Amino acid sequence: AAHQMRTPLTGLRMQTDLALMESDPAQIHRSLQQISQSAERASHLINQLLSLARAEASYEKIYAVEQVDLEALLRPMLTDFVPRALQKGIDFGLETTDQPLLIDGNPVLLGELLKNLIDNALKYTPVGGCVTVRTIATEKAIVEVEDTGVGIPEADRERVFERFYRVLGSAESGSGLGLPIVREIAELHRAKVSLSPNPAGQGTIVQVVFPFSRTEPPPPALPGPMARNQFPPA
Ligand code: ATP
Ligand code: MG
Repeated sequence: AAHQMRTPLTGLRMQTDLALMESDPAQIHRSLQQISQSAERASHLINQLLSLARAEASYEKIYAVEQVDLEALLRPMLTDFVPRALQKGIDFGLETTDQPLLIDGNPVLLGELLKNLIDNALKYTPVGGCVTVRTIATEKAIVEVEDTGVGIPEADRERVFERFYRVLGSAESGSGLGLPIVREIAELHRAKVSLSPNPAGQGTIVQVVFPFSRTEPPPPALPGPMARNQFPPA
């Protein structure tokens, strides 16, 4: 991590030194734009490192575990990503079960997990593509992020979870920490993350499968004699 932070900071210093030697205002402006981009990348890297460190810290001690409705967590988050999707002309949608999807966990960490997946989907999907966030309730609580992006070659599908690993040739910038953060937070929640190619032929589907909340209230009693026999249980 120290090396990963040194490189962008060295770059920033060199760019600043060069800019200070310029006298042409147009050239100074261009240099400042580069410096601004580099500073943004460096601060993104630091934020991702902090996020990973937070996830690594034994969360039972630091974070309160509560019952979290994944549906309710997703809705405002998706709204925040809408301007970016619009800017890129991406068809961005939410498909939900329309009922609470309750799990036990920490909303801050879960928010970071979901944000990283949506960020990847929007980042690695070219202009005009399609990104869908989906919730599914089976015997598990499932969140899926589907995109029609560049896809992840099979040979890289495990390695992308390694810290700082990025698929070669990507035109997008990033620190290679998003998926390691996702995996770390998923493990804390006893959830499984899987990557698969989008069956539509292009892009990726990331699935996170959570156990349902253990403190979930029992389903409403069925009318009739069966329900009367079941509640209260013997
Ligand atoms: P960061 O998330 O820290 O900003 P990053 O996006 O490069 O940087 P990860 O989110 O860990 O890092 O992803 C690792 C690599 O996996 C990416 O660099 C990219 O090559 C590939 N990748 C991740 N998600 C997708 C996706 N939805 N489609 C295509 N490639 C992806
Ligand atoms: Mg990422």
